[in-house]
Amino acid sequence: MASKVWVFDLDGTLMNSDFYQKPTEEACTEIMRALGDKSPSFAEIKRKHGELDKRMVYLRNPDTGKLYLYTKQRFPTSLVKIYEIFCKETGIDMSVPVTRRLYAIGLKAFKEERYIRKIKPQSFSIAKFLKEQGDILVILTKGDKRVQGDKKRALKKAGLLKYFDDFIIAPDSKYAYFKLIKSRYEGSSYYSVGDTYKDDIMPGIKTGYFGIYIPYLLNWKEVGKFKRIEQGRSKKNSNHYDNLMEIVEKYRYL
Ligand SMILES: [Mg+2]
Repeated sequence: MASKVWVFDLDGTLMNSDFYQKPTEEACTEIMRALGDKSPSFAEIKRKHGELDKRMVYLRNPDTGKLYLYTKQRFPTSLVKIYEIFCKETGIDMSVPVTRRLYAIGLKAFKEERYIRKIKPQSFSIAKFLKEQGDILVILTKGDKRVQGDKKRALKKAGLLKYFDDFIIAPDSKYAYFKLIKSRYEGSSYYSVGDTYKDDIMPGIKTGYFGIYIPYLLNWKEVGKFKRIEQGRSKKNSNHYDNLMEIVEKYRYL
């Protein structure tokens, strides 16, 4: 019998995706220290930084002329920019050493040890289980080539990558890649496992996959929309699971 083909999303599915949280909090503390008694509250700095960082995804990087998107330039730069904004608001002169420190703090988000710590322990169990069934496993992740490439190296070092037949980075939509995987791997059935309904499940269903939707609380793209997504979710072409191990429990029915 031909094998099942599983396409896994990476961030929020196989890995916890709060890569930026700790460096952001450290940077907020640094900004408070720099602004002294004129500083807004920690929560206020963090909130405004969050808004700016999201906005910057679709802003143009003046150094490259390209959109920032999910590159390594956007995130540490947003920490420096929010400091700049607060300096202007409070009338305090910007300090170059502070901007350098903020950038360095931000870069910690991309460290290999941090990525390794973010891999969900269940990812190892599910990958091992599916491989033992003789299935084909693929990681399909959306994002910046360099950033996702670093994560790939971390997965390799942690010993997870050996279970996967392919690791594909989609610069934008996953749609064409779902099709590509189908043409590349022959299987009895195809599954797309992910935490973002719009990016992982919908294009998967459109290209003939069965969706395994596992919502993730830290998914900023869909947080606050879980109820609406569940109502609109295709019950015929997808299941909603609470975690990766449900795939093992339900495997024989899939
Ligand atoms: Mg995801």
